[in-house]
Amino acid sequence: MICLGIESTAHTFGAGIVDENGNILANEKDVYKSKEGWGIIPIEAANHHKEVADDVIQKALESASLQINDIDLISFSQGPGLAPCLYAGLNKTIELSEKHNIPYVGVNHCIAHIEIGRLLAKQNDPVVVFTSGANTQIISYNSGKYRVFGETMDIGLGNALDKFGRSAGIGFPAGPKIEKLGRKGKWIGLPYVVKGMDLSFSGIVTEASKRLEKGERLEDVCFSIQEVLFSMTTEVTERALAHLGKDEVMLTGGVAANKFLQEKLSIMSEERDAKFDVVPLKLAGDNGAMIAWTGILAHKSGYKTEPGIVLPRWRTDDMNITWL
Ligand code: ATP
Repeated sequence: MICLGIESTAHTFGAGIVDENGNILANEKDVYKSKEGWGIIPIEAANHHKEVADDVIQKALESASLQINDIDLISFSQGPGLAPCLYAGLNKTIELSEKHNIPYVGVNHCIAHIEIGRLLAKQNDPVVVFTSGANTQIISYNSGKYRVFGETMDIGLGNALDKFGRSAGIGFPAGPKIEKLGRKGKWIGLPYVVKGMDLSFSGIVTEASKRLEKGERLEDVCFSIQEVLFSMTTEVTERALAHLGKDEVMLTGGVAANKFLQEKLSIMSEERDAKFDVVPLKLAGDNGAMIAWTGILAHKSGYKTEPGIVLPRWRTDDMNITWL
């Protein structure tokens, strides 16, 4: 079975092609870029996706040396995400499905990050730290669902860094720049907000921005905001690991690129005799291959998709996991 996966939840329109042995035959994307200093404007991003969809899909078919008629299944990101962007993916899926008589399946974007990670990192039953722009969740499989053991109560870790970056005038996305600047900084003390198993980032971003206004060095605030946000995330991951008695930790999502975060999780995992892996960065951000692979797992295990709809607020723990 060969599956074409379509990703369109936020800024990325991706098309990936994967076979049922987990071989990634193609993975193409085109990323919407907003005006300097602006975040995603949903309608603009959706228009971008509609414009580039055919080209990106064609490129994926060409790099896999396949024709559309070789595709056995189409999988699309049904949610969570920005509704106009999700509709761009759904409508393209339905168009191709009807025109070429190919069945389709809708999968959860967050679970797709986990499944491509498990495939590539060769992890069996990990505690997953999924941290991207919009999401930050500590997830693990238990009794038919991927359960969320801890999560942000406000914004995702990536958005927290981007929001701070905007107030500091360092552009978007700010994560990589904050990482670089933080290497030359020192700890200046910032609030630490873990509530039970949940995390709250917004207040820390506001405080960090105020510290800049009061004249603290940008490098020091960049070091300190990372120190505090990543320590909080590691604390919750450690408690999930201890509670579940598991022995694998997997880091994925766009923020997985950050070396400070990797180091903290790696040290904690080692102290608990757990195997730690970072999902290869090429596939840790939003992409179509992860949607294709999860589509294959779902379809082969008899998963039923609600047809013709998108689920902008679809929670990770709301998708039935029929393949584990
Ligand atoms: P979602 O997948 O939740 O819809 P998204 O599409 O914005 O969100 P990704 O593409 O997975 O997320 O990741 C983008 C985020 O990762 C941005 O917020 C960016 O600042 C952050 N990021 C990228 N590289 C780094 C880095 N080196 N350090 C910290 N953050 C980073």
